[in-house]
Amino acid sequence: MTLHFPFEHTYAALPANFFARVEPTPVAAPRLIKLNRELAVQLGLDPDQLSSLEGAEIMSGKRLPEGAQPIAMAYAGHQFGHFVPQLGDGRAILLGEVIDRDGVRRDIQLKGSGPTPFSRRGDGRAALGPVLREYIVSEAMAKLGIPTTRSLAAVVSGESVMRETVLPGAVLTRVAASHIRVGTFQFFAARGDTDGVRRLADHVIGRHYPHLASVERPYHALLDAVIARQADLVARWLLVGFIHGVMNTDNTSISGETIDYGPCAFMDEYNPSTVFSSIDEMGRYAYGNQPRIALWNLTRLAECLLPLFSDDKDKAIEQAQFALGEFAEKFTAAYQAGLRAKIGLFTTAEGDEALVQDLLDAMTKNQADFTNTFRRLGDAVLGPDHDEPVRGLLIDPTMFDEWASRWRQRTALEPQSPAERREAMHRVNPAFIPRNHRVEAVIQAAVNNDDYAPFEELLTVLSKPFEEQPDFAAYSEPPEPSQRVTQTFCGT
Ligand code: AMP
Ligand code: MG
Repeated sequence: MTLHFPFEHTYAALPANFFARVEPTPVAAPRLIKLNRELAVQLGLDPDQLSSLEGAEIMSGKRLPEGAQPIAMAYAGHQFGHFVPQLGDGRAILLGEVIDRDGVRRDIQLKGSGPTPFSRRGDGRAALGPVLREYIVSEAMAKLGIPTTRSLAAVVSGESVMRETVLPGAVLTRVAASHIRVGTFQFFAARGDTDGVRRLADHVIGRHYPHLASVERPYHALLDAVIARQADLVARWLLVGFIHGVMNTDNTSISGETIDYGPCAFMDEYNPSTVFSSIDEMGRYAYGNQPRIALWNLTRLAECLLPLFSDDKDKAIEQAQFALGEFAEKFTAAYQAGLRAKIGLFTTAEGDEALVQDLLDAMTKNQADFTNTFRRLGDAVLGPDHDEPVRGLLIDPTMFDEWASRWRQRTALEPQSPAERREAMHRVNPAFIPRNHRVEAVIQAAVNNDDYAPFEELLTVLSKPFEEQPDFAAYSEPPEPSQRVTQTFCGT
């Protein structure tokens, strides 16, 4: 029985300059190393069939599934603030769209499937390490409840790729609400192609924001909606200590999903200036800069939409500025609500912001682990005799004591029992995140020893980030000094 994907192709039906038709370049000897069975089922695909040799061939690009219309999408983008009018899928190929079990249209894309007309200098391939990192981190994000592209499969290609050294090659099958980016709008805007911008905006509204199709000013509403989703997304990133690493406009999804996991990382010790990416020398995409950068990227989107707003340019700019002005409020509301939940508050009171900020400041000064501080705070809520595990995370534990007495005065104003509060806190403060040193160890085992047991175990732990999992307690520990990862790489 041959494998069937019920493909549809609404993006490939757009005008020819939106993409390039290109077929994946076959790889030598594909071997499936991971299939996301749960996601396959959600997509209406048969996981047993996908696990076959034919499945591996399809998900490496060696064989084209029936009904696929492979394309590389065109886009532009600001990379580290510099505009590049043509980027496009240089190593990714969209096979088509499927409608999932909830009726949501999802892109099925191969990443690392060979060169495309947009490849410029690259080889169109991906190395195994970055494929595993994206698989792990995107799936961890999904389980943390954060909007993200998903990983359906990882396949080793049986070929090598040349980077600084020779590395095993791999292909990731990525699933996204769509792969349309801020940079996709920029592609048409930069060419003065207002018709292209409008076609794209109409497609995006129909696909991601269908309720806006009938409002009075759909393009204004579209900008508002993307601003709202990005504000919410970045707030969620901050609340789990996630650093995207390459927040270029071409890596900013219009649907509001986290996309293009390159040198991304979760921080261990809390410090807003944390940067991991080796290419981010100026700290442009540091943890604490992410809200500002999201707004910068949204401003680039707004510029693309100006011609759709009004023929009167000044009026259009004024309207865009008004919309962008809403970002700060939306972000702050989501971020502060999240922080209040992290310290176990059910209500809002004056002084809450300062209370949380004082904890964060104490954490920075005391090099406290972000994830574990909040997780253990959920136990300390039971009473001061449960403080030791969390206070011990601070270099000077007495700084916790001072803060905790204020915190207890505040929680005492609410009727919830300590047990209720603990449960609520453990639902929002994960015990497990994909810590860098763990991700690195998984990659080393796979690349050096063809050993995927650590990869499987890490995925298992991260599939239930809010559960205690005593057998895997070691996965909640921050790195020893010798295990510490200080830099992450794009893998391109
Ligand atoms: P990224 O940093 O992954 O967002 O990629 C930025 C641009 O470089 C995109 O246009 C990619 O398609 C392209 N690119 C990245 N890696 C490769 C590669 N190995 N071969 C060809 N193009 C690539
Ligand atoms: Mg990218």
